[in-house]
Amino acid sequence: MTQPQVLLVEDEPAIAELLRFTMQGAGFATTLAIDVQQARSQIAEALPHVVLLDWMLPDSSGLALLSELRRDPRTAALPVIMLTAKGMEEDKVRGLNEGADDYVTKPFSPKELVARVQALLRRKAPEVGSQALTYGAIMVDAERLQVSVAERPVALDQAEFKLLRFLVAHPERIFSRAQLLDKVWGDHTFIEERTVDVHIMRLRKSLGELSHYVQTVRGVGYKFSASGE
Ligand code: CA
Repeated sequence: MTQPQVLLVEDEPAIAELLRFTMQGAGFATTLAIDVQQARSQIAEALPHVVLLDWMLPDSSGLALLSELRRDPRTAALPVIMLTAKGMEEDKVRGLNEGADDYVTKPFSPKELVARVQALLRRKAPEVGSQALTYGAIMVDAERLQVSVAERPVALDQAEFKLLRFLVAHPERIFSRAQLLDKVWGDHTFIEERTVDVHIMRLRKSLGELSHYVQTVRGVGYKFSASGE
């Protein structure tokens, strides 16, 4: 099922390997880019859940990439943690000014790095975390990949599961189809908007007596709510 994806942008092989080892140990799927150009094309292909971005890269600076990401609506909210060299206080301030969500000083403690990444994801993408989420009589356990409706376990396919997990994490809010594609599937390159309707329909069916939680907002999109329209 969906594992949180972290993009590592780091040109020093030893540090890249330590980052990979640390993040995989914490349950993340990792991809590596060794310069800004690679990072750019990987992000264009699929949005990761979080980026760990080195400051000094061979072709450009991590800071330049960060400000580029912040200017693009598709990546403006992408969680980014900057990796900075020890003692570069000015860098930290500049990084945060450019829109970094957090920074970690190299050499880093693996434990601290994981804690910071998880804290950031809890803040910015709660549906990615591994804790069980509940809303009304629905419980989604992303770690065990289990869903229960009114305390009865229900089996969902992968698309329904991802969709429900997102909705449970963001109740009472209206999302357009395009937003759901972007937020649930990360990128809408490969899925058409009407596919969302199909997944919604199937999810409703799976939710049985609680199908009314998934509400259609005419002309806009969908809302997940336990209360009536
Ligand atoms: Ca570097």
